[in-house]
Amino acid sequence: MLILMQSEHTKKQLEAVLAKVRALKLKPHVIPGKQSVAVGITGNSGALDPHLFDSMEGVREAVRVSKPYKLAGRDFQHADTVVPVGKFRLGGPGLVVIAGPCAVESEEQMLRIARAVKKAGAHMLRGGAFKPRTSPYAFQGLGKKGLQLLAAARKETGLPVVTEVLDQRSLADVAEYADVLQVGARNMQNFALLKELGQIKKPVMLKRGLSATLDEWLMSAEYLLSEGNKDVFLCERGIRAFSDHARNTLDLNVVPAVKELSHLPIIVDPSHAVGVRARVAPMARAAVAAGAHGLMIEVHDRPDQALCDGPQALHPDDFASLMRDLAAIAGALGRDMASPALKGRG
Ligand code: PEP
Ligand code: MN
Repeated sequence: MLILMQSEHTKKQLEAVLAKVRALKLKPHVIPGKQSVAVGITGNSGALDPHLFDSMEGVREAVRVSKPYKLAGRDFQHADTVVPVGKFRLGGPGLVVIAGPCAVESEEQMLRIARAVKKAGAHMLRGGAFKPRTSPYAFQGLGKKGLQLLAAARKETGLPVVTEVLDQRSLADVAEYADVLQVGARNMQNFALLKELGQIKKPVMLKRGLSATLDEWLMSAEYLLSEGNKDVFLCERGIRAFSDHARNTLDLNVVPAVKELSHLPIIVDPSHAVGVRARVAPMARAAVAAGAHGLMIEVHDRPDQALCDGPQALHPDDFASLMRDLAAIAGALGRDMASPALKGRG
């Protein structure tokens, strides 16, 4: 339910609406607008009767919101969300590129790759310290030590760090070191984890589940938003389809679909979608053309020795060349690569 206040409503009338929502044991969200104020309501399990509110003083209209993802949808918030990460703004016109190895392997490896992606113009550094692996015998990540190595790489390069949080047990550690907490595809519907991440004060990148529909994905984002964390962005990373020519099927179709339904920024991870180095750049270029706000790309300078996802990692030189292509494509579309936000802007 969305309650639209009259443009000349009084503070007292708005307070009365909020009090009525609370009395129904529901949660009001005040949404300031250009013309007037609206109040979104969450917490109701069934439809609310608009007559509860539309006869109240100062109320212009009470309208039902058809989408179950109220806070993630555009009914409650029309304007695009812009997520601040360090000096950069994700979700604005500037294209943001996150790059780095699949996993943090050692201090030298992390520093070498961090320097290389920084030189090529990446805006943020990625690297998994806690790795969700299909096989329990595969490298599981360096854990807390990996977080410390990421922090060291951030200190040297100035790049904000994006890293995965696997479970509630490691959440406090990951939140201490990361600038952005990544929820991996396999955890998209780990609702207990999402609820906790909704209560932290750091941005969360929510990857699409292995075969999640758009509605399921946005409902997971709703868990984060409904707990109070507004700094959320989405990452399409390919879904399981019947094709067997690639690791996953990159659903670029979902980029304009997300932008239509939701105000949350969306980036694309072509590396996990295609799984093969040679196909990463073409799909990265296509993602920018499709309107993604950013990209996440795996880069490794010694992919043959990588402990995880070597076959899909770009060599730093190829990553640098891709960055030039991306700038050209963004430019052709009237966009740009992200640059540090000016103080007070965005
Ligand atoms: C990753 O980004 O390292 C990762 C494991 O990705 P996904 O969750 O998309 O498989
Ligand atoms: Mn990976």
